[in-house]
Amino acid sequence: MGKKASFKKRGRSLNGQVLSEIEAWLAESGLPLRRDLLIEYLHIVQDRKHCLPADYLNAIAHKLHISLVEVYEVASFYHHFDPVKEGDAVPPALTVRVCDSISCQQSGAESLIADLSARLADKGGELRIQRVPCVGRCEAAPVAVVGQHPVEQATTDKVSAAVDNGQQDATIPEQAKDLQTYLDEGGYQLYQQCLSDERDDESVLSELENSGLRGLGGAGFPVGRKWRIVKGQTAPRLMAVNIDEGEPGTFKDRYYLERDPHRFFEGMLIAAKVVGTEAIYIYLRDEYHGVKLLLERELAALKQHFPELPPIELRRGAGAYVCGEESAMVESIEGKRGMPRLRPPYLAEVGLFGRPTLEHNMESLYWVRDILDKGAAEFTAHGRNGRKGLRSFSVSGRVNKPGVHLAPAGITMRELIDEYCGGMLEGHTFYGYLPGGASGGILPASKGDLPLDFDTLNEHGCFIGSAAVIVLSDQDKARDVALNAMRFFEHESCGQCTPCRVGTAKAVKLMEQPVWDQALMKELSTVMIDASICGLGQAAPNPLQCVINYFPQEVK
Ligand code: SF4
Repeated sequence: MGKKASFKKRGRSLNGQVLSEIEAWLAESGLPLRRDLLIEYLHIVQDRKHCLPADYLNAIAHKLHISLVEVYEVASFYHHFDPVKEGDAVPPALTVRVCDSISCQQSGAESLIADLSARLADKGGELRIQRVPCVGRCEAAPVAVVGQHPVEQATTDKVSAAVDNGQQDATIPEQAKDLQTYLDEGGYQLYQQCLSDERDDESVLSELENSGLRGLGGAGFPVGRKWRIVKGQTAPRLMAVNIDEGEPGTFKDRYYLERDPHRFFEGMLIAAKVVGTEAIYIYLRDEYHGVKLLLERELAALKQHFPELPPIELRRGAGAYVCGEESAMVESIEGKRGMPRLRPPYLAEVGLFGRPTLEHNMESLYWVRDILDKGAAEFTAHGRNGRKGLRSFSVSGRVNKPGVHLAPAGITMRELIDEYCGGMLEGHTFYGYLPGGASGGILPASKGDLPLDFDTLNEHGCFIGSAAVIVLSDQDKARDVALNAMRFFEHESCGQCTPCRVGTAKAVKLMEQPVWDQALMKELSTVMIDASICGLGQAAPNPLQCVINYFPQEVK
């Protein structure tokens, strides 16, 4: 080689002032510098700058000794982050999110979005209005969120008033029991009995197995068996708690946490003791800002009260439904894109940070104290139609009393409406229902006498999942509901596999047609069910297939 080649340094140069800002913010947050905390760092910047400018992403990449592209791919994956390049328009400081999922659609979300856009048009530079999927307050539909301030039963006037009055911050739910109240009522005695082996591990495991408690995030895996499997793995073991309830129609985890967070903590700590997990990671969906403040306050009080607790980290999601899938959540806790893993290996063997991991939905842990205190027999004494236990139904839609209803497993839809929900709304006739949120399918009123529980709806092409029940009336169309669900899946597909990424988009196009090409849709559904990696793509065709099977008159 003759002349020495001249090299130009590739990549973006570091902005010293931005780097100093990032260092100051990280120091202020008290967070250590670790790769898995990347999403937390991105939140810090997004909260302050209302977007993620490229120089800030570069500074974070520099601090973590990773490439800018690695930071960017995470930043651009989550809906609550706005990465912007130099020269790009910067989003307004305030975002007003309006839910357009099924229950809110039933309650007028479309006209709310249109009216708000017109009313707030003159504030164009100061705020933006975003239509977003379910924000977990379906019992109070329609819902808007001004910054971090939820507006329930939202109207244009209420949302405008919140904007004008600067109501943008989350507040701690007033009804929540604090640590002292919980202790006064006998809280944490059971945990201490477990620590002192007054309640030995085997007796706890047997009681849980006898109770028949199953995972309440949707999959329904028996809790006691899961504890035994993870306990049998090589240490160190970890625990990951899933509070990313993003299934449209689901809000039970928020409901329980807003009232009794320590009942959950106690179940979680008992699980950690019995299974022998060294650290606990709680993954909370980003829509639950008030709950986050509450959990932070109560965790701090708990750590002070029990100085020997295992390390507990509260992690903030960033607006991605797919992170409710257990392996996607684990990826997200590791600071990556929330892309579901191929299994096996299962999380119980190779989970968070490659360690055996006990993964649980919040509600599964919430019931541990009650079951151990009162005994499995008390729990199994409930139930109807041959089913045992209790289910927390998140009910929304056309009923008089939407909300979380704790009812016997196996109750039918008609019984739930009549006995717990105060009947149908005036002027509405029961037409159908979604037994398990957007992914659990749609059943007609003629199937309103089926027992609602795990495994009872499979032969009807549906499942109960997290028991998110949305009630439809003669003023709804199942095809509109199914299209809403499919658009949601298209929006939330992580894009990793083609049957889901392309299939959901194709299905939306087909479902928008007045007359459905049912043969093509069935073929497409089969491919999605058979070849998608995770439950999102596999369950996405459920509402579509149910319309073809049970509401054919709507699509001919
Ligand atoms: Fe991602 Fe969909 Fe594939 Fe699941 S099925 S891994 S969400 S693309």
